[in-house]
Amino acid sequence: MRLLLGLNFTCKNCEKENRIKGWATDRYRLRKRMGMEPVLRCKACGKEEAYHVNRIYVKERFLVLPIYLTFGVSSYFLGSYAYRTYWRGDVLMDNKVIMVVFGAYLFPIAVLGVLVFAVIRAKDVLNSGRIPYHR
Ligand SMILES: [Zn+2]
Repeated sequence: MRLLLGLNFTCKNCEKENRIKGWATDRYRLRKRMGMEPVLRCKACGKEEAYHVNRIYVKERFLVLPIYLTFGVSSYFLGSYAYRTYWRGDVLMDNKVIMVVFGAYLFPIAVLGVLVFAVIRAKDVLNSGRIPYHR
C-alpha cells in the first residue's frame, strides 16, 4: 500500500501538483516530522511557500506499473502454458485455452480491482484525517 500511495501538495502559485518524498500514516505524524507548516518548493515554478499539513494530501502512484506488470506476467504465463499444453502444429485454440484465458486474465483483473479499490479507500481514509485549526 505504501508503494502505491505518496504525499503531494498543490502549488499555491501555479497550481501544479508536486510530490513530496517520505511518508506518514497520518497528518499528526506528518506534523511531527515536518512541522505544522513546512516550507515546500514547487518544482514547476520554483516558488517556496509554507503549506499547512492539511494541504498535504495522499495520492495514488505507480498504479499503471502493477497493471502492466500483472498483465505482462499473466499473458506470458498464459502464452507459454497454452503453447506447451495445446500446441500441436496446427490448432492452438480449444476449450481449455479459453479456460486458461479466463484464468490468466479474469483473475488478475479481479485482483487488480480489489487492489485499486483498497488503494482508493486507503487514500480517502488518510486524506480525511485533518488536524483541526486552533486559531
Ligand atoms: Zn508552482
